[in-house]
Amino acid sequence: VQRKEYTPSEFVEGILKGDITILSQAVTLVESAKYEHQQVAQEIIEKCLPHAGKSVRIGITGVPGAGKSTSIDAFGMHLINEGRKLAVLAIDPSSERSKGSILGDKTRMEALSREKNAFIRPSPSAGSLGGVARKTRETIVLCEAAGFDTVFVETVGVGQSETAVHSMVDFFLLIQLAGTGDELQGIKRGIMEMADGIIINKADGDNIEKANLAAAQFRNALHLFPAPESGWFPKVLTYSGYYNLGIKEIWDMVGEYMEFTQKNGYFNYKRNEQAKYWMYESINDTLREKFYHNPAVEGMLGVTEQQVLNNEISSFVAAKRMMDLFLDNLSGKK
Ligand code: GDP
Repeated sequence: VQRKEYTPSEFVEGILKGDITILSQAVTLVESAKYEHQQVAQEIIEKCLPHAGKSVRIGITGVPGAGKSTSIDAFGMHLINEGRKLAVLAIDPSSERSKGSILGDKTRMEALSREKNAFIRPSPSAGSLGGVARKTRETIVLCEAAGFDTVFVETVGVGQSETAVHSMVDFFLLIQLAGTGDELQGIKRGIMEMADGIIINKADGDNIEKANLAAAQFRNALHLFPAPESGWFPKVLTYSGYYNLGIKEIWDMVGEYMEFTQKNGYFNYKRNEQAKYWMYESINDTLREKFYHNPAVEGMLGVTEQQVLNNEISSFVAAKRMMDLFLDNLSGKK
């Protein structure tokens, strides 16, 4: 079957009408590494931007097994039943290595994947974290233009990718489990500091008491951190994604945060800061790309690296030579 080729305007028209097939195809263009696809994608994004920005963006993280997919299914269904439209996106920089992301995999969100008001998209597999994150941020714009009023961005709680997610969401949710008494071990302090809410999953059956204890420990630990810039003091809740307990309370917390930060101006401030951050990220990406794909640079990079390894020149001299080569090549001197 020949797939219809849409013009950028047709893409935008379809997206604004909420056509999921067209939205999916546009996201594929956003994720593509091909130059022509990028050209079209950028035009679509540009035209969608005036219709974007109106969703609640929530980052969700937790180690594998914490219950992210079970919880997203449960939160998601709660929102869908409230009449909301939800997009679930993911950032998984390891997905290229592992050939396909497990995050955002539809089969992990059984109930949601059957809902027409839910759009689930696995992580783009674009190599660098910066690249993957930028594509996800652009996909948020398209989803919002298509009328999704809530966006989840899922990531695995193991480090770097949290910072990327944090830089594109309004509320950052950390999923934790009650363990064996040393709950706080192994959680990167930086991740806890980013969290606007910490939710302790699997608070069901015999586990309820342990979950409550863990919650108390987290609350104590949070008191040791400096006061957050938002003025919002992170909340700690327990719930069960599997048995659907405490889900409404989590969503109420998000609502409370939105109201609080909209009132004190932090909401807009943060969105502006994020826009600025992504401007510089895009500039940096483009510069790096242009530098490493410059023919003069490509021709000399290996040789220069070898000279550094042989101790013939210092890394600083080597870097300066490569930069000069690049800039001369750009200005047409060589
Ligand atoms: P993910 O790797 O973070 O996406 O975690 P999953 O959602 O796949 O959950 C990991 C395991 O924990 C699965 O076997 C789930 O059935 C189980 N699980 C998830 N949420 C709960 C919960 O609220 N209570 C209990 N008892 N088990 C849960």
